[in-house]
Amino acid sequence: MTIEEKRYKDINYCLRCGNKLEIVRDREGKIRPECPACGWVFYKNPIPVVCCVIINDKDEVVLIKRKFEPSASKWAFPSGYMEIDQTPESAAIAEMKEETGLDGQVVRLIGYKMSPNPFYEKVVSFGFLMKVIGGELKAGDDAEDARLVHLSQIKELPFISQNYFLNLELERRKERRLKVIK
Ligand SMILES: [Zn+2]
Repeated sequence: MTIEEKRYKDINYCLRCGNKLEIVRDREGKIRPECPACGWVFYKNPIPVVCCVIINDKDEVVLIKRKFEPSASKWAFPSGYMEIDQTPESAAIAEMKEETGLDGQVVRLIGYKMSPNPFYEKVVSFGFLMKVIGGELKAGDDAEDARLVHLSQIKELPFISQNYFLNLELERRKERRLKVIK
């Protein structure tokens, strides 16, 4: 199976008119499913995800116990898919409230990371450092549990992207401490 055949094996019908799609080569030479009846093209893009790294002034970070796949029942940073009417920042604030009960503010973008995903092939995750401005820590609908864990106690998170954001943040803190000492 070619990469395109594998990529589009479950993409069968036009979302606009219901006709059977055909795999064609477009003007740029890229292979995509296209509807021969109405011309609609299926574009497969990485799905945007936001991830909240919520750290307090005691160097504790908020983890939630995931209720749903992927990685159900594992402890992780609150995260979720970005909705069409959200910005990355507003998605992070909404996700934080939904999963932890905390009102948040974006401190800054830590970075982004592409990673494989069992449902959408690939996602692009945006990691935000968040601070708490209100609310009370309690597990929301998408989480079984929520708690504070000291940064030094986290060994590994269940996502490539979340480990990447954690390490970037730990590195930044180390550099900042070194600057203070010098
Ligand atoms: Zn169509």
